[in-house]
Amino acid sequence: MRLTTIGTGAAAPDPARVNAGHLVEAGGVRLLLDCGSGVVHRMAGLGLDWPGITHLALTHFHADHTSDLATLMVAWRHGQLPPRSAPLVVVGPPGTRALLDRHAAALWDKLLTPGFPVEVRELEPGGATELGDGVTLSSRKVPHTDESVAYSVERSGRRIVYTGDTAPDAALGPWAAGCDVLLAECSLPAEMAVAGHLTPESVGELAAAARPALLALTHFYPSVERVDVRALVAARFDGPVVIAHDGWSIDIEHE
Ligand SMILES: [Zn+2]
Ligand SMILES: [Zn+2]
Repeated sequence: MRLTTIGTGAAAPDPARVNAGHLVEAGGVRLLLDCGSGVVHRMAGLGLDWPGITHLALTHFHADHTSDLATLMVAWRHGQLPPRSAPLVVVGPPGTRALLDRHAAALWDKLLTPGFPVEVRELEPGGATELGDGVTLSSRKVPHTDESVAYSVERSGRRIVYTGDTAPDAALGPWAAGCDVLLAECSLPAEMAVAGHLTPESVGELAAAARPALLALTHFYPSVERVDVRALVAARFDGPVVIAHDGWSIDIEHE
């Protein structure tokens, strides 16, 4: 499996970090996790295989995770020759179809009939769905918005966990336990902490509970980059930590 962080920013405009979006390539599956503003153009800039995306999974419905959905669908229809014909599966928590209907009404009436098959799969938190080629996507409810979930992507005994946006949650660490990569949000410094997001301190505690082989941090507001994120995390988690940037990637080898 390969994980690429496409957009490592949050809601603040940042020339180096666009909104949330991450690509997992596993066998024949190309799974885009979230699709916030800037993600589509960033994929082109990074030379990623955006036409080859097979699945899209949304953690929640905030704009910084969803606002490039129509941009991507339009790109598949009008931004390449020939237009896309391959089916697309969109996975998300209950309410995803209604969200897509709203985007269709506001942005592009062909959003759900773009000339290729679009299957919307609403996944109950705690559920799992097969993406094909031995790839399983499972979700877990997290405290952020009513619908928010974290995702786990597994193939051949390897596992990537993505927190999406979340407040500290004592049950999330055990759920992510032993994963190969924990891709975790790290939004704000402790002095600006808000309900619904992690700080370097709380993400360090999460990692201490989950013990991932690698902790990768994302979803940065500019203010959190003014503190020593690495030291604050290291005081709580002694494993390897990456401060991801747009275009960072890692290959996870299979046995
Ligand atoms: Zn967010
Ligand atoms: Zn959010």
